[in-house]
Amino acid sequence: MSRQEVVKSLSQIKQKEMISRNYDKITGGRVKVSSTFVPGNLNELLMCFDIANNLPEINAIQNALRKKSGDLIAEAERAGHSEDVCTYVKADIGMMGKGNIAPNGKPFPDPDILLLSYTGCFTFMKWFELLREQYKCPTVMLHVPYAADGKPTRNMRDYIVKQLREDVIPALESVSGITFDIDRLREYLRKSAIAEDDLVWMLEQSKRRPSPIDCYFGGVYYMGPIFTAFRGTDEAIEYYRLLREEIEERIAKGLCAQTPEGDMPEEKYRLVVEGPPNWTSFRDFWQMFYEAGAVVVASSYTKVGGVYDYDNFRHDPDHPLESLADYCLGVYTNRNLPTRVDMLARNIREYDADGLLINSIKSCNSFSAGQLVMMREIEKLTGKPGAFIETDLVDPRYFSAANVKNRLESYFQMIDQKRRSGGSTAVAG
Ligand code: SF4
Repeated sequence: MSRQEVVKSLSQIKQKEMISRNYDKITGGRVKVSSTFVPGNLNELLMCFDIANNLPEINAIQNALRKKSGDLIAEAERAGHSEDVCTYVKADIGMMGKGNIAPNGKPFPDPDILLLSYTGCFTFMKWFELLREQYKCPTVMLHVPYAADGKPTRNMRDYIVKQLREDVIPALESVSGITFDIDRLREYLRKSAIAEDDLVWMLEQSKRRPSPIDCYFGGVYYMGPIFTAFRGTDEAIEYYRLLREEIEERIAKGLCAQTPEGDMPEEKYRLVVEGPPNWTSFRDFWQMFYEAGAVVVASSYTKVGGVYDYDNFRHDPDHPLESLADYCLGVYTNRNLPTRVDMLARNIREYDADGLLINSIKSCNSFSAGQLVMMREIEKLTGKPGAFIETDLVDPRYFSAANVKNRLESYFQMIDQKRRSGGSTAVAG
């Protein structure tokens, strides 16, 4: 594949600096560190105790993008972890076996606390059991009830708030030696809401034709600050302000989505994508789309660290603990299948997409369970064709470029054919 130089925008440069500063903070030895997961992360609450937020999934992704995750997974499998285990877990466990080195080249410190917001994926719990065995540090779990009926109840919210008051906050006070100040939390949540407004504005710009952004491959960069260690900070506000300005400029110029090789010359296909991306061949995967003129206008993955557009959630400084509870209840992995179907079908209609592409991840049960049923249902609801491809998160053994490309090409042909004939839906792959 021919490849040109990566073109970086100001917001991308800013984000890179933010991430690298955060790794320096985590590895610098001057602050307490919590390990916690992206979905349901309580970043604003951790900030109230000056605790840095280290996210094992993000470390696995960073290693995959640097082509290091294959060796780490092999290390974990040698230690007895099965081939079927989520590869984020194995990349993390394997990293411990190889010195636990952060992307800045310095060793990660042992966490001072493991904070698990349990939001729908059982693997989170098993993963932290392994970390607890290894680190023997205080562990606190916020149990978030699964929204099985599609609508979280008042009882569920109260139950989470009670745990925050009685378990989580006292544990964080004890580890940090800092007394909880609810006004400090309110201030962080106020900042979160400002960045979240810009984030939702950004997500909605792909309703335009052409879409000025890609909401899957590009989207993972755009979501980075709000899904990780920066929600509630001035830096996140500044990042989204910069991003908004860049997108406004793109709209004014009528540009198609930005890719690593510059602007897409033409937008031929508009897709909604369900499932996480493959990280070991991220750029090759993306290239298969932009070379075909395909842009992703909405994706479920850009909702994995918080759903802001579907039911208009924002963190609320006037109801700080309740708002943290609502955030946890609403993350994508905690939503039932009918809600996910409704969300994706609505995206297809509102973003005027040509169809739904599912990237089914071999080792992620939380996303993959029920995806074929979801696809059939969404095809029925929208009359648009679906397609199914299979890859993995960070295990390079499960990305077959030729297979993925073939399936994508047949899907694009099917969309062409459907446009010409207005015929019935069918499934590629
Ligand atoms: S949601 Fe998927 S990728 Fe994330 S921890 Fe669970 S199984 Fe792994």
